[in-house]
Amino acid sequence: MNHNKLNANKNNNKAVHGGWNFDNTYARLPESFYARLNPVPVRDPNMVLFNRALAESLGLNAQFLEGDEGLAEFSGNRIPENAEPIAMAYAGHQFGSFTMLGDGRVLLLGEHVTPDGQRFDIQLKGSGQTPFSRRGDGRAALGPMLREYIISEAMHALGIPTTRSLAAVTTGEPVFRETTLPGAILTRVAASHIRVGTFEYVANLDEKESIKILAHYTLNRHYPHLKAHENPCLALFKTVTERQAFLVARWQHVGFIHGVMNTDNMSLCGETIDYGPCAFMDVYDPSTVFSSIDHHGRYAYGNQPRMAQWNLARFAETLLPVLHADQNQAIDLAKEVLASFPEKFQAFWLAGMRAKLGLFNDEADDLPLIDSLLSCMHRNHADYTSTFRDLSLEILPDKPLFRDQNFIEWHKKWQERMARQPESMNVSRELMLSSNPAVIPRNHRVEEALEEAVERGDLTKARELLQVLSDPYAESPLHLKYSSVPETSAGAYQTFCGT
Ligand code: AMP
Ligand code: MG
Repeated sequence: MNHNKLNANKNNNKAVHGGWNFDNTYARLPESFYARLNPVPVRDPNMVLFNRALAESLGLNAQFLEGDEGLAEFSGNRIPENAEPIAMAYAGHQFGSFTMLGDGRVLLLGEHVTPDGQRFDIQLKGSGQTPFSRRGDGRAALGPMLREYIISEAMHALGIPTTRSLAAVTTGEPVFRETTLPGAILTRVAASHIRVGTFEYVANLDEKESIKILAHYTLNRHYPHLKAHENPCLALFKTVTERQAFLVARWQHVGFIHGVMNTDNMSLCGETIDYGPCAFMDVYDPSTVFSSIDHHGRYAYGNQPRMAQWNLARFAETLLPVLHADQNQAIDLAKEVLASFPEKFQAFWLAGMRAKLGLFNDEADDLPLIDSLLSCMHRNHADYTSTFRDLSLEILPDKPLFRDQNFIEWHKKWQERMARQPESMNVSRELMLSSNPAVIPRNHRVEEALEEAVERGDLTKARELLQVLSDPYAESPLHLKYSSVPETSAGAYQTFCGT
């Protein structure tokens, strides 16, 4: 074999490899935690969106994955080397009621380990029926998958912990909902898919052994430093509580409404997960609900912190057997951590709101100062995102809020408050501009992009939207178009469950 031929072989090998480096620890857990099965092949897959930057950051071969072989993998028509597809078992409290669930239309291909040693779940969403499909078809429609792609990537760019989206493909097969829609599969990337609902499922298997296995697996995977703690499971509960307090505070800062904060949609690693009927609030109103299935406003914007705490109580219940040998003492330990949630949330929330107002230090009256701005906004039906952006740009537009006498007084107080800190106004403005996005995925813009993609197979708007959302704190001419507030009232907007 001559030298040239060797080189040719080497290049060839590289060209047929997506760069996957699977090491599947979840598939080594007890068999009752999941079901092994392959995706159901699809007829005529087509790549709709591919996240080159994400692929590269994961150490994957973007060029290969963008081509036909990648398409075969993202559509479930070919299993990547060393992947071990499983549907994860989990339960969950849905709108307060306990249900057995599991991945009904999702398969975890495996855990990809990046060149720098980070581990990510690679999942296909919409990959066909599983033993957990109940009455569902195991498939997903293009619109909701693009919605998850766009909003998850927007959240990431906003600096909020979230699952990511690597690819969206159409299947060439219809899915039947209220109407016939194009089928699609989303490839989702997450630190893991261990949910509060996973603990609820495992706690149901037997008293203690399974929960111990899952708790230690979670500690090893996400919080190895806590293993040295004298009570590692208590430390796990504390840390998960803190992560959730942080996550929901970040949601509140940008006006994000998850829509279905069921326990099966709360991830133990603190990422935003399962984008269904979620949306960003336009006009500031704590009672804002978008989801068509949330009739009582359980998951309204203003309720999100309380609902996170409720979910954490369900998590604590599953952990009781491993928190302490004595059940009463276990309950006391759990209660103490749970009771710390509102304070933890408030601290994260206040820190972010201070940044939104250009404040570096703490003053005792900051909370009433922030609350008074929010009530002015509420009374005047002010747009949440653009009000903070206008304040950052020192624009006082001709809008009802900016003519309200209470607001004018508030503005004076705020200026005085800023003058009392050592940092200059310029530095404050910089902090504000990097804390108050110019663009968010406005509902009307997302809908417009999805409609064009679904009705006409045209991805131009979706791509432009993704581009703009990838740099949400910048000010550019293109941003101007996307930062405009919708004309229709926000209350009329509804999102539907992503099935
Ligand atoms: P979600 O609302 O996406 O969090 O899903 C809740 C549960 O319903 C999960 O167990 C999903 O796997 C399942 N599910 C949602 N849509 C489908 C579908 N089309 N086919 C089968 N299962 C589904
Ligand atoms: Mg879910």
